[in-house]
Amino acid sequence: MTDNLTPTQRRHTMRRVRSNNTRPELAVRAALRRLGQSGYRLHRKDIPGRPDIAFIGRKIAIFVHGCFWHGHNCRRGDRLPASNRAYWPQKIERNKKRDAANLAELQRRGWRTTIIWECRIKDAAWLHNELAAVFDDKRRDDNSSAPQGDCKQP
Ligand SMILES: [Zn+2]
Repeated sequence: MTDNLTPTQRRHTMRRVRSNNTRPELAVRAALRRLGQSGYRLHRKDIPGRPDIAFIGRKIAIFVHGCFWHGHNCRRGDRLPASNRAYWPQKIERNKKRDAANLAELQRRGWRTTIIWECRIKDAAWLHNELAAVFDDKRRDDNSSAPQGDCKQP
């Protein structure tokens, strides 16, 4: 699969998706406001994985993941740049491993985590439910985004 970006545009795009306060993050923060949830901290380096949004006292971490960088299993995540074909899959594989290790460490410390994927943010109802669920104590055990996936077998 190819795209029409020049190398300069590609670099620009990469830099933009990696920066803080991206449009997806702002959308998630707006959704939190609508839920009446405030008091979070942003990009705290002292928390595993440096969550985009963290409620420290309540031990809730929200990650806003770009599909490309974090290897989401979606059309957007599958789209590799035309150049450096050998480089990107390894890089993204490393990102995924690191993400999984960070989630495991947070869960070990008793944190609740959720991953908000960039490709799903436009679905306002989904976003609302996903965020509401992480604050819902009754659903606490169901909600964690387990890196290995939930096994429904008895
Ligand atoms: Zn995606």
